[in-house]
Amino acid sequence: MQRYMPDWWVLPAINDQNREFFTSGEIKIQQCEACGQVQHPPEEVCHQCQGIVFDWRSCSGEGTIFSHTVVEHPIPNSLQERVPYAVILVSLTDYPAIRIIGNATNIDADKVAVGQKVRAVFEVIEDEQAKVTLKIPQWEVIS
Ligand SMILES: [Zn+2]
Repeated sequence: MQRYMPDWWVLPAINDQNREFFTSGEIKIQQCEACGQVQHPPEEVCHQCQGIVFDWRSCSGEGTIFSHTVVEHPIPNSLQERVPYAVILVSLTDYPAIRIIGNATNIDADKVAVGQKVRAVFEVIEDEQAKVTLKIPQWEVIS
């Protein structure tokens, strides 16, 4: 899919912790091998037991809008042509306590509402500098 934000918009800096999340093309959540806790965003240390070995749990890619905001006065000002746009916080169906931020790509910003069902879609972007193919999750409202 085409990028929701402009092509010049900053890309995530890939590291060993977030590579799977930003390149797999599915919603994957970090799970601590020692205690089983799931967490997002991916980090080096488990929030529950301070474990440092993780596995990944694949998710359905569906969720519910837990919260949202509409950006009408952009910072930086160079996003002036992009506004208004919605930023949403999605509670995953598989792990409701996990929330992932993104944009609602298929609906006018003023139509976004808490409780709407969403499904992940992925922006495929070649990051020439980092030499990696990114698959950045965004969200489509499905009901
Ligand atoms: Zn743990």
